[in-house]
Amino acid sequence: MADTTQAQRIDGRALAAAVREDLTHRIEVMVNAGRAPRLDAVIVQGNPAGEVYAQRQARTCEAIGLTYALHTLPADADQQLVIDTIDALNADEACTGIMVHLPLPDGVCMQAVQARIAVHKDVEGVNPANIGGVIYGQRTLVPCTAAAAMHLIESTGIELAGTRAVVVGASGIVGKPVAVLLMQAQATVTSTNIHTEDLVGHCAAADIIVAAAGVPGLIGPEHVKPGAVVIDVGINRVTCPDSGEQRTVGDVDADAVASIAGHLSPVPGGVGPVTVAMLLRNTVEAAQRA
Ligand code: NAD
Repeated sequence: MADTTQAQRIDGRALAAAVREDLTHRIEVMVNAGRAPRLDAVIVQGNPAGEVYAQRQARTCEAIGLTYALHTLPADADQQLVIDTIDALNADEACTGIMVHLPLPDGVCMQAVQARIAVHKDVEGVNPANIGGVIYGQRTLVPCTAAAAMHLIESTGIELAGTRAVVVGASGIVGKPVAVLLMQAQATVTSTNIHTEDLVGHCAAADIIVAAAGVPGLIGPEHVKPGAVVIDVGINRVTCPDSGEQRTVGDVDADAVASIAGHLSPVPGGVGPVTVAMLLRNTVEAAQRA
């Protein structure tokens, strides 16, 4: 008879709600003490997905009592205007956290803008100084998606020391920081990328897989060791061949993997909501340290 055991679903929405509840109390205390945190977001017009995200962000901040200020720059904003906006926010004492909605227009260098954000207000953890801090074990302003992946892994209760972990994808903002955070937790970590040979061989020996390649369905049942923790970071828009409808899927073939993994984070409803919660947490912690 087939084994019908299903992986435990890691509920990112519930984990995010718990983080928000904790932050609501912390923000209330700060507001009462006259030290209200404020998140300032910069967006350049002509970024519809960013605008939708910014609207949601405003509602989420309001719900936890966090002041949110959106700075909308014209569609023809050049690098100097974006940098000047960041400089003004760096100098504004009432602003305790800064984030920049991507993508930026052609001609505006994302890395130069991210490097300009004051290190102590860089709540997305994208300034090279904060990414460098991850290497030295400073879990302060950690890149939000990497922090979210770790939060999901830790929520399973797995003892990380001595485990084998494979991180699929090695971008500067997701894959590499996740790999370093897992190393710091004393896991034995393999970082893989598009040139990796025998991805199945690497993954199939892993207790933890973090899939962050941006390739729909890349991780199938052949990649997963029975009982492994599988964290799906991918966010991919695909068209359903039957209905023609667009839907969002991860990098993991969740239906096929669910009967093998021990814990599995879904897409949507896994890393995504926790990433937003980590941004809010970074904002509150940056303000507390200010
Ligand atoms: P990226 O394109 O910058 O990097 C992708 C990485 O995956 C590269 O290192 C590449 O070498 C590797 N890769 C590609 N194909 C591979 C393969 N077949 N085997 C092994 N490695 C492979 O992407 P990114 O910005 O790191 O994002 C990765 C995914 O995570 C995307 O789907 C993105 O939408 C998603 N994402 C989600 C969140 C979230 O909050 N949930 C945040 C950021 C990114």
